[in-house]
Amino acid sequence: MKATRLFSKTQKEDPKGEISLNAKLLIRAGFIDKLGAGIYTYLPLGFKAIQKIQNIVREEMNKIGGEELLMPGLHPKNNWEKTGRWQVKEMYKIDGDNYGLGWTHEEIITPLAQKFLNSEKDFPKYIYQIQTKYRNEPRAKSGILRGREFIMKDLYSFHLTNEDLDDYYEKVKKAYLKIYERCGLKDYTYLTLAGGGAFTKGYSHEFQTITNAGEDIIFICKKCGLALNKEVEQDKCPNCGNSVFEEKKSIEVGNIFKLGTKYAEAFNFKINDEHVVMGCYGLGISRLLGTIVEVFNDGKGIVFPKEVAPYDIYLINIKAEKETDMVYKALEYKGYEVLFDDRDKTPGEKFSDADLMGIPIRIVISEKTLKQDSVEIKKRGKNEVELVKIKEIAKFLEELH
Ligand code: ATP
Ligand code: MG
Repeated sequence: MKATRLFSKTQKEDPKGEISLNAKLLIRAGFIDKLGAGIYTYLPLGFKAIQKIQNIVREEMNKIGGEELLMPGLHPKNNWEKTGRWQVKEMYKIDGDNYGLGWTHEEIITPLAQKFLNSEKDFPKYIYQIQTKYRNEPRAKSGILRGREFIMKDLYSFHLTNEDLDDYYEKVKKAYLKIYERCGLKDYTYLTLAGGGAFTKGYSHEFQTITNAGEDIIFICKKCGLALNKEVEQDKCPNCGNSVFEEKKSIEVGNIFKLGTKYAEAFNFKINDEHVVMGCYGLGISRLLGTIVEVFNDGKGIVFPKEVAPYDIYLINIKAEKETDMVYKALEYKGYEVLFDDRDKTPGEKFSDADLMGIPIRIVISEKTLKQDSVEIKKRGKNEVELVKIKEIAKFLEELH
């Protein structure tokens, strides 16, 4: 992609009225645009990062048997009256209160599953979507960490027994940890015990990422690494019995629940006279992008982990247009996603935009480097610059971690 073709532009100044770091950086880098409190457009660069995250999530969901569908965002009141959740404060109501905007989808997926899962042999089933959710959030001041409109992956599982749900729940836990690892967040993200909510006696599990921008507080067991949400605060770790904890601010990037028979009861969903057992598993896709930005940044901008960066390489020419164009084409041919900054800007301006956008690798080609048949390669977040022979670029990049 040539930078002259990009729809968005970078900004030198912080946007007015935005207090959260993720929104400031993403707006300045031309990744998102604010429409109102908690309402953002994902511009082409930001949407590319979102798609990278979506694909990681999709791959890991498919590996554990998930099947993807897409449910509506507009929900008739009737479904929500059946579970008594029509009055919750999150719900935006419209059209004379006949419809609500979906903030979660148990009320839609349960009667839907009931139509297709008719006998024992139809179980278990795992259905998920990646979809826009709406929530009337009173405190929408955290940029894309807390949107009034946001992108979530929600998976629902249907089982005949609690034991079968328990087995699948463990698989989802592992898949979630894999997702955060692939997003670069492994060292910052903790499996966390949280309250079971209204419908289960046991715990639910959250995935909490350590960041000062977080709105939650967790206590990490110094011995086994399990974390406890402050709402389940106890003297001893329920996993290992240790009683030394470290207190950290964190953001919830995922939450998984054993729903039991709560929704099957509300919709009278039974097989052989027994209520169906369900699990639900949420993961905030857009919140994950915001979290990545909060965790990985420096004074110059974002420092994207490889798998979620919108482009692999930021290519800059200082004069040397023809040669840079050749390298650009060769890199794209090799399968790299390259953002070629062909704009009529000073090298300094291009360097600072490369840093701001956080693209993992920067390649600079100038008359000076060409004198040595070389280009300059630098990793974002590192200071060292390496001079690499043009014909060795591909090999160098393959070996780069
Ligand atoms: P929180 O406690 O942060 O308000 P929640 O417990 O209400 O979140 P869930 O209903 O469990 O959230 O939703 C599943 C996931 O969706 C959350 O783990 C989070 O990653 C994401 N999420 C929830 N609310 C928002 C929001 N307003 N904006 C962006 N992502 C959100
Ligand atoms: Mg939650």
